[in-house]
This record gives sequence, C-alpha cells and structure tokens, in this order.
Amino acid sequence: MNLADITTVKSILSQPQKIVIVPHKNPDGDAMGACLGLCGFLKGMGQTAHVVSPNDYPKFLKWMPGNDEVVNFEWQPQEAYALLDEATVIFTLDFNDLSRIGSMEAALKGRDAEFIMIDHHQQPSDYAKVAYSDVTMSSTCEMIYNFIEFLGQTNSITADIATNLYTGIMTDTGSFKYRSTSSNTHRIVANLIDKGADNMEIHRQVFDTNSPSRLHLLGVALSNMVILPEYRTAYITLTQEELDQYDFKKGDTEGFVNYGLTLEDIIFALIFIENKEEGIIKISLRSVGDFSVNQFAREHFDGGGHDNAAGGKSDLSMQETIDRFNEILKNYKSELNP
Ligand code: 5GP
Ligand code: MN
Repeated sequence: MNLADITTVKSILSQPQKIVIVPHKNPDGDAMGACLGLCGFLKGMGQTAHVVSPNDYPKFLKWMPGNDEVVNFEWQPQEAYALLDEATVIFTLDFNDLSRIGSMEAALKGRDAEFIMIDHHQQPSDYAKVAYSDVTMSSTCEMIYNFIEFLGQTNSITADIATNLYTGIMTDTGSFKYRSTSSNTHRIVANLIDKGADNMEIHRQVFDTNSPSRLHLLGVALSNMVILPEYRTAYITLTQEELDQYDFKKGDTEGFVNYGLTLEDIIFALIFIENKEEGIIKISLRSVGDFSVNQFAREHFDGGGHDNAAGGKSDLSMQETIDRFNEILKNYKSELNP
C-alpha cells in the first residue's frame, strides 16, 4: 500500500463509518480470517462493521471469533441488503474481481460506498477506490496484519483478532510450507501468538475435527486418483453420487487435491468435483514449481487464482470434462517436463 492510499484510508476511518466486509464465494480460512480479523479491528476502533458472506462455509471454520455475527447473503438476503444499503465503506477481501462473489455481485455493483480491496490474487480488477493488492503475499490475513501496521495500530490486535489472522495465514500457506511463506510471514505469526493466538488449538479446530464420513470420502477420492507419469500429473474425480453416499458437507473435500502433489515427481494435481445443483464440475488445481495453474485455469476452465493454487469450472459432464482435460494436457507435455 502506498503512502497516498494509507492517508486516504486513515482519513476515511477518522470518521464514523458503516462498514460491510465481504469475502469471496465459498470462503476459505483466509477469506473468513481476514474478514473476521478486520471486523474485530474496526469495531475496536469504534466503527460499525459487519461481515456479509456470499454463501455458507465449512463447519471447520465456524468456531472462529465473531462467526456468530456473520450474515449469509444467500440465507439472509434482507439483513444483507439492509447492511449494504446503509454502508458507507465496503471492504472486499481475498478476491480480485466482483464476479468471485457469485450472485452477490449484483447487490454490490454500482453502490456509491467507498470500496477498499485487500487481496493477493493475480490480475486484480479495477473497481476499488483503494486497492491494496500484492501477489507476493502468503495470504490476505498477512495483508490485514500489514494494513493494521500501516495504520500504526498493532497494539489494538486482541487475542480474537490474532486468532482469526493466524487461522488464515495457516490455511493459505498449507501450514507454513508454500512458496509464498516468507520470513516476514513467520515474524507476523510469532507476533500473533504473542498477542494470544493459541496455535495448537487453532490447528486442532481446523484439521482435527473430521467426521468419519469425511475420511471415508477421502478414501474414495484416493482410490479414484489417476496418475499420468508422462505428464507428471495426478487427478482425482468425485461424482455427486459418491459425495451423496458419504454424506458430503461443505468443506469435506478441502485439501484432497494436495494428495496428488505428495507423489514423488508429480508437479500438477487436480480434483474434479461434480456439483449437480449448480450444474458444474468444480475444479481445484495445484502445482509445485514454475507451472502456473492460474494461467491453465484461466485459459481452459474459466477460473484463476495463484501460480501454484487455482480454481475453475466446467459446464460439461464429468466424463466430457475429463476427456477435454486429457486433450488439453497433450499440449503441455514439454512444459510439465522442463
Ligand atoms: P480452491 O481450489 O481452494 O477452491 O481455490 C484455490 C485458489 O484459486 C484460491 O485462491 C481461490 O480464491 C482461487 N479460485 C478458486 N476457484 C476460482 C474460480 O472459479 N475463479 C477464480 N478466478 N479463482 C478461483
Ligand atoms: Mn487467500
């Protein structure tokens, strides 16, 4: 964030504002951690602030401080519209384009509230008055910490705020192992622990609260895995029928895609998950090294994200999607075998 932006934000926040904070659709730990952490911070400043999520999110995030006050746009449209109609400032966190909030886009577009974007995804759109966009950042939660630091207010970080920010940094860095994890990330995490984030408890709440059916679904996913050594690629499919059989709940497939990358010599991993209700195959893509899944998802599957973690979708059937993927992959043989 440059000095002019910091001055603008300071000036906006020097007045009482009605603030709405929005994560991307299907928010993950980073999106919710950033929204709840920022919301706690702004309330601590005496501002009126609310988090409005485009839709529901997994149970393993519902213990987070402030969770009970989140308004779900899909389930509580009246509350959501009332907050948006009053809003003087709208923060959009952990996404780079308003299309990432799904049907909530129409509710946000054209409002004359001041938009402030804080995000680490590539190719940000230009809709915000202030855009703090930095693709080198590990997570939006790391950026919220920086944002609070730019305002000279790290002393106001409470244990609850620290807990939310720690959660997002932890989930978006794969527990501090992805390439974007810097020494500065670790310094911030250390500060958050000093401020009261209970690191052991946060890991337990997010990763060690599985249901038996989720582990059984993981078993199905792993046995469905297809390994293509000549492309250094592994992919998993899960049909709606398989999800239903194992009592699928939102978030149950989180992290499944990463198993492909634990195979020696595999650098490109995907999971294709059928969603009959939305009529799409949702795709998660991961890579290690220089192969950009952001580019791959953008070019072929109407998606995007980061170089090493991206998402996309397909309107075709599962079989057609896989056939198409296999065709596309043929053009990447040399790129995947540098
Ligand atoms: P995931 O695979 O965990 O859903 O998402 C991985 C990354 O890609 C996240 O940073 C997420 O925000 C982004 N992402 C997921 N789905 C999409 C999509 O459909 N479009 C775009 N542009 N980004 C996505
Ligand atoms: Mn993120």
